[in-house]
Amino acid sequence: MADDADLNLFVQWRHASPGLWKFCPLCQASLTNHDWDGKSRRYCSQCGFVYWERPLPAVAALVYNVEHQEVLLVTRRYPPATGGYTLPGGGVEYGESVQDALRREVLEETGLIVGIDSQLGTWSTPSNETLITFFLAHQIGGNLNPGSDAMETVWFNILKAPRLAFSVHEKVLELFRARWALENLGR
Ligand SMILES: [Zn+2]
Repeated sequence: MADDADLNLFVQWRHASPGLWKFCPLCQASLTNHDWDGKSRRYCSQCGFVYWERPLPAVAALVYNVEHQEVLLVTRRYPPATGGYTLPGGGVEYGESVQDALRREVLEETGLIVGIDSQLGTWSTPSNETLITFFLAHQIGGNLNPGSDAMETVWFNILKAPRLAFSVHEKVLELFRARWALENLGR
């Protein structure tokens, strides 16, 4: 029996390509292929279940401290990119808004309660398997206490933050730095 840490290596939420779906999750009949809108999809002829292949929705937070000009990063506990720095975030649960998902993920990973300032945008990961909506946020409560998928939580000066493990996170941080530089021009 795998312990909780081992289990987490197996249950990382990830995309399973249609070919990996052999049996209907509802009635256990063998799945076949059926065309909808010119695209073949896994289908159960017994009960009508269709496997609609979709990207997974996720959120990430750029938690910024205006006074100290610092951004909060976490290091990853699990693959991919174990030990790498990222913005805190994770998957949106069914029935949860993106804003609620963001506040929950930041609290789970960093111990901080955050208020949301703005939505920075939504980007696809390079594989197009995940859609990440990024928010600018700031601390309104809590205390730093790494947990869940995060090993450590570290505040970095906005200009001295290390390169992030995920290219989309890095792009968003670079966009924020560019905006920050414009706003601080001539001060
Ligand atoms: Zn079925």
